[in-house]
Amino acid sequence: SGPHIPRAHPPLCLTVAGSDSGGGAGIQADLKTMLALGVHGMSVVTAVTAQNSLGVKGVWELPAEAVKGQYRAVVDDIGVQAVKTGMLSSAALVETVAELLAATAAPAVVDPVGVSKHGDALLAATALDAVRGELLPRATVATPNLDEVTQLTGVVVETEDDMRRAADAVLAYGPAWALIKGGHLAAHGDEAVDLLTDGTDERWLRAPRHDNRHTHGTGCTLASAIAAGLAKGRTVPEAVTEAKEYVTGAIAAGFALGAGIGPVDHAW
Ligand code: PLP
Repeated sequence: SGPHIPRAHPPLCLTVAGSDSGGGAGIQADLKTMLALGVHGMSVVTAVTAQNSLGVKGVWELPAEAVKGQYRAVVDDIGVQAVKTGMLSSAALVETVAELLAATAAPAVVDPVGVSKHGDALLAATALDAVRGELLPRATVATPNLDEVTQLTGVVVETEDDMRRAADAVLAYGPAWALIKGGHLAAHGDEAVDLLTDGTDERWLRAPRHDNRHTHGTGCTLASAIAAGLAKGRTVPEAVTEAKEYVTGAIAAGFALGAGIGPVDHAW
């Protein structure tokens, strides 16, 4: 055979997030999602968690210089077509990442991670102002769940009308699109309903709610799947619709692991 000709690279997708040693959420969920969806996954680690199915046992945040160094190393040589941000831990790291995003042309999916399903804080309370004022304005899509919406905007969500008010309150901070994840809304019974809006174009996304307690990593997986779609050149509504289908399948296939809450299955 003749000389090897390298093939064109897949779309380039970068996650800026925390490491979950249990492999179900955070950086690990992001990279698995990106592999499953056919993009090249790259990572900037913000914090290392010692974590298993029972919760977070320890958190070690990286220095801002280490976050900046990883990000610049990736962007300056390889390049990125979409960025996803997850656990940012502190105000200093939120500010650092917001500055890096400001200097990057690629679209950004911002998952404003606050507290894990086990109730472990993944973001300092003192970082909320920086998330509102510096990070959300850089987002192409912000993907808060209902707890995060309340933490960021004060809006308490119990109905679909509340979800609309919550979306408006998030959009006021400047992201191009808000995806309000209503999965925990009791009013929806056997449906998981999300609202995607840019303030004019309003779309309700409905999926069957799976009665599966093994849902560790759902938020990370959804946000990375959206970023993977954007890296492939999809529009925001297309990327979000496809990502919702992917995470719904991953939740349905979630499995038991350890003594607590198992992960969604990225390889379903
Ligand atoms: N660990 C890390 C590093 C995360 O980024 C997240 C969520 O974003 C979690 C844990 C929590 O995952 P879950 O709430 O799905 O259990």
